[in-house]
Amino acid sequence: MVGLCLALALAEQGFEVVVLDAQPPPAGLAQLQTTLAEPAFDSRVSALTPASQAWLQQLGVWEALAALRVCPYSDMQVWDADGTGAIHFTAEQVHAPCLGHIVENRLLCAVLYQALRQLPQVSLHNGHTLKQIEQSIDDSNSTRVLCDNGASFRCRLLIGADGGNSVVRTLCGFTTREWSYQQQAIVCTITTASPHQFTAWQRFTTAGPLAVLPLLLPGAPSQHCCSIVWSCDNDQAAALMALPAADFAAELQRAFESRLGPMALLTARVAVPLQQQHATTYTKPGVALVGDAAHTLHPLAGQGVNLGLADARCLAEVLAQARQRGEDIAALQTLSRYQRARTGPNLAMMLSMEAFKRAFGSDSLMLRWLRNAGLKVANRNLALKRTLIQQAMGLSP
Ligand SMILES: Cc1cc2nc3c(=O)[nH]c(=O)nc-3n(C[C@H](O)[C@H](O)[C@H](O)COP(=O)(O)OP(=O)(O)OC[C@H]3O[C@@H](n4cnc5c(N)ncnc54)[C@H](O)[C@@H]3O)c2cc1C
Repeated sequence: MVGLCLALALAEQGFEVVVLDAQPPPAGLAQLQTTLAEPAFDSRVSALTPASQAWLQQLGVWEALAALRVCPYSDMQVWDADGTGAIHFTAEQVHAPCLGHIVENRLLCAVLYQALRQLPQVSLHNGHTLKQIEQSIDDSNSTRVLCDNGASFRCRLLIGADGGNSVVRTLCGFTTREWSYQQQAIVCTITTASPHQFTAWQRFTTAGPLAVLPLLLPGAPSQHCCSIVWSCDNDQAAALMALPAADFAAELQRAFESRLGPMALLTARVAVPLQQQHATTYTKPGVALVGDAAHTLHPLAGQGVNLGLADARCLAEVLAQARQRGEDIAALQTLSRYQRARTGPNLAMMLSMEAFKRAFGSDSLMLRWLRNAGLKVANRNLALKRTLIQQAMGLSP
């Protein structure tokens, strides 16, 4: 998602872009249209902030995405399983039409591919897995990348947008600070007996947060499909994954305190290992990292792709400006402007997610009292709530 957005932004500014993606291309829009009335949702979804939406609008892909299938959410309900602390955010509190949208990752990729295919300055190479990088030692100032299928490409600037296990990051010798949570996130799509009320729900337990996110079928009044992200320790995740679907749904309903009534599974469950990592630098001469390749964080705040899109937007602006000024786009001096602009916001988000994770992951009586009291105080303070909402919407630093 992040790499495709960046490719589009750069190509729209006239850069020549080569996209290598290990994955096959997603189905075309015409083919996707025929399946959208069915509740065959992608189990990987993202909560996109209004800031990300605004950039996708600027890139000219939001309308196509919205015409496929997105679900706005106007409310967020967050509560602590071990107490009575809760906080309720609404779009009304910040006079906005919604707090964000839940989008299916594969649909976002599909509209981005559709837009990229229209641009002659872009060449797309799917099923190409990068496995080797040679930075020039001659005076061509270029980087050569080799793929597992024997194909090779030369570029002036190599951008690693290849996710949390970035091969570009490893091969170019970037170091990371990382810690594994020994946790997995179980994701799948479910139906709920009661309507989701266009609300993103999050229940915090000491084992990890359980998020229930609203989905919408186009043309149907139904508000009964949701995506879940259930983060829990490895042992608990393995036990939950081993349960038959009906038993898992019963466990889920219990963990969610039956707030939306009985639940049933619509898709198979997928367990994703969770880790947090941050590259100590995002740039070297001729190379830059964006998105999860630069930083991977716990999904509890649903911010990973939003931070990645902000990286991509920033890097595209830095490169366009450098070209206008006649500067070298691959020089460390140029790329450092991107790094300086993005490290602070990314690090701040990662630290606050870690603090949240630790506060809610503790059994300590004192911490339980504090977090419950904190949630109650925050829930009564409209000014504080507005600040928190604006941060979550990507509208303030
Ligand atoms: C359970 C869960 C829920 C989440 N929910 C949210 C949410 O609600 N909101 C949010 O903002 N974020 C969310 N996130 C985080 C979000 O999914 C990631 O931040 C996002 O996917 C990162 O996008 P990316 O494009 O940087 O990397 P990726 O999505 O990992 O994409 C990397 C791409 O690189 C390609 N690739 C990898 N290696 C190679 C190679 N060697 N050669 C060629 N191509 C390669 C892959 O095929 C892939 O296409 C969630 C994460 C998890 C685990």
